[in-house]
Amino acid sequence: MYGFTNGGEAYERACAVLVGGVDSPVRAWKSVGGTPVFIMSANGAHMTDTEGRTYRDYVGSWGPMILGHADPDVTKAICEAASRSASYGAPCVAETELAELVIEKFPSIEKIRFVNSGTEAAMTALRLARAFTGRDRIIKFAGCYHGHSDSLLAEAGSGALTLGVPTSPGITAANASDTIVIPYNSIEAATKVFVERGGEIAAVIVEPWAGNMGLVPPISGFLSSLAGLCEDAGALLIFDEIITGFRIPEFGVQNREKLRPDLTCLGKIIGGGLPVGAVGGRADVMNKLQPLGPVYQAGTLAGNPIAMAAGIATLSKLTRTAYQKMEYLSGRFATGLEQAASSAGIDISVSRLGSIVGFFFAPKLPLNLDAVKMSDSGLYAKFFHGMMARGDYFAPSPFESIFISLAHTAEIIDATIGNAREVFGEFAEIAPAEA
Ligand SMILES: *Cc1c(COP(=O)(O)O)cnc(C)c1O
Repeated sequence: MYGFTNGGEAYERACAVLVGGVDSPVRAWKSVGGTPVFIMSANGAHMTDTEGRTYRDYVGSWGPMILGHADPDVTKAICEAASRSASYGAPCVAETELAELVIEKFPSIEKIRFVNSGTEAAMTALRLARAFTGRDRIIKFAGCYHGHSDSLLAEAGSGALTLGVPTSPGITAANASDTIVIPYNSIEAATKVFVERGGEIAAVIVEPWAGNMGLVPPISGFLSSLAGLCEDAGALLIFDEIITGFRIPEFGVQNREKLRPDLTCLGKIIGGGLPVGAVGGRADVMNKLQPLGPVYQAGTLAGNPIAMAAGIATLSKLTRTAYQKMEYLSGRFATGLEQAASSAGIDISVSRLGSIVGFFFAPKLPLNLDAVKMSDSGLYAKFFHGMMARGDYFAPSPFESIFISLAHTAEIIDATIGNAREVFGEFAEIAPAEA
């Protein structure tokens, strides 16, 4: 068991110069308590911190590291690309190659633009949709995350149909009011908005499986209803597959569901761990971007040769066999976790999409943000710290997905499940005293 002293040296030093010691708030341990560990290196399914402690990693850099850390082929591609210069600021063939690899797997995508992050991809998709339709408003779903651009950080105050209020200071009310936020999985709410203001809607943006409030599946008919509503109203349907893209054997949820969104956002895996995002879709919409069309979008480092090389190397290794292996491992993980909890008398609900797993301390799988919020986040904090002490690194937040990589093995998964059994056992010991 690892013991943790508060405020490691690395954290104190970071806090003096970085806001909260981190460059992305989710890396801080605000919702579980304690101070973050600092990572020195990572290999395969393991990460090692500055104190020399090694963890089985279930975060995978929040999704991109599907092959595991420091995959030799990806590392080689990165080093070779770097030796030819880190950036050109002029077109390179690797951009075309990665675009071809993506287009081959996503029938809805005819043209692509690479950007530097998922945030940029979603922001660009909205700008395109607004320009294409000549309308301002967009519909998003509470609990879906599409990056931190202004109009996408709006969220409903209550589960009811409301005009968005800014989720963050610094976002104007005008900006937020163009965003209509409704509950995930509510065909009824979506229909109502379209009946009342269909002519104002530029686009619906949705995570086809929500992966940023834990892992929440779409109910049957939800995604196809959105497609129908958009089509009837002349609005665009945008699938944000930044988490789900290339995570499943069909490559995208849209392909599994046989739907063709007008625009798709990708990121994470397609950069193999380097900063990348992409927006792609119908050629007539994409061609509105400069230099062909009037919609402005640009990036000094967009289509960066090292990032493209890492993406190409990563996608090239995602074979049918690779997906089969991950499917097996994540199934083993999900089943093991369920059994470990139930034998300790603890209610959890588990969701799984390919190699992504979600679990909630709730008896029934939540299907929207309100339900997610009712799961027990206090128990998650105990789970998190119990697992960290045993060498298992999970997200320091109850509402994130678990990522299984190709570098995980049955042995690694079983070790983690064994530890989860112990941690759940400790909960069971505390529970009667609390009751
Ligand atoms: C991670 C994520 C984003 C944002 O991507 P960044 O690269 O962090 O800007 C957007 N949408 C979804 C669904 C994501 O999971």
